[in-house]
Amino acid sequence: MFEYAPAPESRDIVDIRPSYGLFINGEWVDSLGDERDKTVNPASEEVLAEFTLASEADVDRAVSAARKAYESVWGQLPGRERAKYLFRIARIIQERSRELAVLESLDNGKPIRESRDVDLPLVAAHFFYYAGWADKLEHAGLGADPRALGVAAQVIPWNFPLLMLAWKIAPALACGNTVVLKPAETTPLTALAFAEICRQADLPPGVVNIVTGAGATGQALVGHPDVDKVAFTGSTEVGRMIARSVAGTRKKVTLELGGKAANIVFDDAALDQAVEGIVNGIFFNQGHVCCAGSRLLVQESIETELLDALKRRLSTLRLGDPLDKNTDIGAINSAAQLAKIRSLTEAGEQEGAERWSPSCPIPDKGYWFPPTLFTGVAQSHRIAREEIFGPVLSVLTFRTPAEAVEKANNSPYGLSAGVWTEKGSRILWMADKLRAGVVWANTFNRFDPTSPFGGYKESGYGREGGRHGLEAYLDV
Ligand code: NAD
Repeated sequence: MFEYAPAPESRDIVDIRPSYGLFINGEWVDSLGDERDKTVNPASEEVLAEFTLASEADVDRAVSAARKAYESVWGQLPGRERAKYLFRIARIIQERSRELAVLESLDNGKPIRESRDVDLPLVAAHFFYYAGWADKLEHAGLGADPRALGVAAQVIPWNFPLLMLAWKIAPALACGNTVVLKPAETTPLTALAFAEICRQADLPPGVVNIVTGAGATGQALVGHPDVDKVAFTGSTEVGRMIARSVAGTRKKVTLELGGKAANIVFDDAALDQAVEGIVNGIFFNQGHVCCAGSRLLVQESIETELLDALKRRLSTLRLGDPLDKNTDIGAINSAAQLAKIRSLTEAGEQEGAERWSPSCPIPDKGYWFPPTLFTGVAQSHRIAREEIFGPVLSVLTFRTPAEAVEKANNSPYGLSAGVWTEKGSRILWMADKLRAGVVWANTFNRFDPTSPFGGYKESGYGREGGRHGLEAYLDV
């Protein structure tokens, strides 16, 4: 019998420099400080490259470059001219998508199937979508005479490095702002590759500046007095600190923070489809997803049947080399994240929930965690309340729709939810009652540049994506 076993995607198609400077005013420059760090491949622990931890003085140079580019060029360009650059960037991303997907999988640990088939197409789609808005802002229905804000400080996490960059940079530029963006310290490489794409697209110097670094660099960037707008995606803890630090300044702020989404399965749901949706909901990108369906709420009458089917499906997941096109579960992004997942899963056992994983060989080197299921979970358990941000599903049960809503909403977060039922009226009723920025019906983890995304409660405020995503970068 023929078995489909494609060769691993080759890492030879990416060009990683041994060491990176900062991208400021359209040039690669050395830091004014001397702090550096290394980024590793989480699947092998091999060092991929050295990068700069930008100092306060570096951040100041980057913000000045962005200010100058805003005042002298970008803020003056008509929308149709800005659109040309954004379309050009979108096309280059498409042309280089295979290489960018490999780079993302190397630096992040995510399976190549996901970086190639999900992340990269969405990255290009965001640039195409917002390119289309650049000359139509006055028709966006946001109010009269929309104007750019000025310089945007953008700080992003490591789970979707290039996609989070696209969510931030594409609307900012379309509206006429200039940006200084800081990628996460464990995944700087695709943002640095994007700097090269800006050059390839002949983007005027200073319109996009990339400063690498850890929390201190991020703090210097959002705290810079000449920044007009702060856009942050990351943990609720850091989001809270940022909200405090910008209070009382002129800065506008949007925060995209954590989540603990409920994926709710009713007894009339198409079970095979629901099982796929549960797997995609929590094991996509190793569960490193803000809107991951990390709490499964299953109607009591089908608990046994659903869990049996889910366990059978989990036993077929393949964990391993992110560059192998057959891999379903890649590496955990960092040793620190692995430690956090371990500590929360140990808490789950200590609090009395029952842990289950399929037998699943774990590679010797690298950071790995098997797909894991907890049953017998109570709402008060830490694994039901805290964001684990790993391939770990907590299962709870309910009897009635009202109880499902009550349990789903019993969370400090409110980013997303999923509902599985064949009853249309129930979908509408649930969507109305659930306190979540997005409610998926009979699907999960679907994204589209035309749809706004963002949270209720401690999942943050403001929306990214769609027409609403323009609001964050305009005064009207
Ligand atoms: P994190 O908050 O630790 O870091 C996010 C970014 O903030 C990184 O670039 C980091 O260097 C920087 N940072 C750290 N301290 C800072 C400070 N004091 N001031 C300014 N910047 C600082 O989060 P993470 O671990 O990288 O990412 C995971 C988190 O991101 C999860 O909670 C996840 O839910 C959230 N997330 C949310 C969304 C969304 O759209 N809501 C999307 C992706 C990820």
